[in-house]
Amino acid sequence: MPASEFELIERFFTRRGARREDVLAGVGDDGALVATPAGGTLVFALDTLVEGAHFPAGFDARFVGHRALAVNLSDLAAMGAEPAWALLGVTLPSADEHWLAGFSAGLDTLARRHGVAVVGGDTTRGPLTVSVALAGLVPPGQALLREGARVGDDLWVSGTPGDAAAGLAILQGRLTAQGRARDALLARFQLPQARVALGLALRGIANACIDVSDGLAGDLSKLCAASGVGADIESRELPLSAGLCSVAPPDARLAYALGGGDDYELLFSADPGHRARLASLDAGVVLKRIGAIAEAEGVRVDGDPVERDAGHGFDHFAGRPPGSR
Ligand code: ADP
Ligand code: MG
Repeated sequence: MPASEFELIERFFTRRGARREDVLAGVGDDGALVATPAGGTLVFALDTLVEGAHFPAGFDARFVGHRALAVNLSDLAAMGAEPAWALLGVTLPSADEHWLAGFSAGLDTLARRHGVAVVGGDTTRGPLTVSVALAGLVPPGQALLREGARVGDDLWVSGTPGDAAAGLAILQGRLTAQGRARDALLARFQLPQARVALGLALRGIANACIDVSDGLAGDLSKLCAASGVGADIESRELPLSAGLCSVAPPDARLAYALGGGDDYELLFSADPGHRARLASLDAGVVLKRIGAIAEAEGVRVDGDPVERDAGHGFDHFAGRPPGSR
């Protein structure tokens, strides 16, 4: 974007997010400089959103801005890290100022809420694509990893998985809903809430943790593979929202909760000795015990193995969940 690139950056990408004392040079220099606490561990995550693949074409620009940061906040939450600095890559078909204003407002609001400063980025022309690289901090040795789950651990999930996928289905006309259920499910897809406070609270409690972005069962398989264990889910323990139950029949509810993407909840394992503490933990979201870590490899729901290709997960280069995206 030759002529107006500088102006676009000045108008839409400068002074975005929180003001942080540790940012020594931000947008405007060739690189960003941040001061790091001595001995701290840095955590990095990067997620890219491509229009049509990660959000529907024509999706409100505010929601795109929110989502671009939220998906990265969710990755840092899953690591038990405190988010701090973001780099923002924006590729746009044209310098659509109306779109940019919405996008930048959506991102700015969420960044401020989490104390994240946007310290730099890149702006180019092309098919609509947004990348955020987010860095954060965790005290040494305290990061939550996918590995570390132990046989006998309880398996926990936050929130009500499946809602976001139902919200997307409503947007795309694959599911019909009215009133409060419709609004609630749409909001869960449009404005996902990363569980940052929960991730911090789980330091020293969770043995392994992952964020649920590609479907609970598929992400659980990843946690199990990393930990060299298996897991059993009890379907009657799955925390289904009132909204999801009111729009989907029982079988479909389970498919949404286990296979739907975009939840951005945390899935983690913890020693049964932590039950009381976890049940009363106040990190802004309800936690539910849904099963246990087992020695036998693989993920089972009520004893039945989850089929690899049954739509429980989303892979850009392999099969896609039936009817989604
Ligand atoms: P350079 O040519 O040195 O890469 P740019 O013109 O790409 O510089 O960027 C100028 C400044 O604006 C840099 O500090 C860069 O980090 C920042 N910047 C560019 N695009 C964005 C963006 N989308 N969001 C935040 N900062 C950006
Ligand atoms: Mg550049």
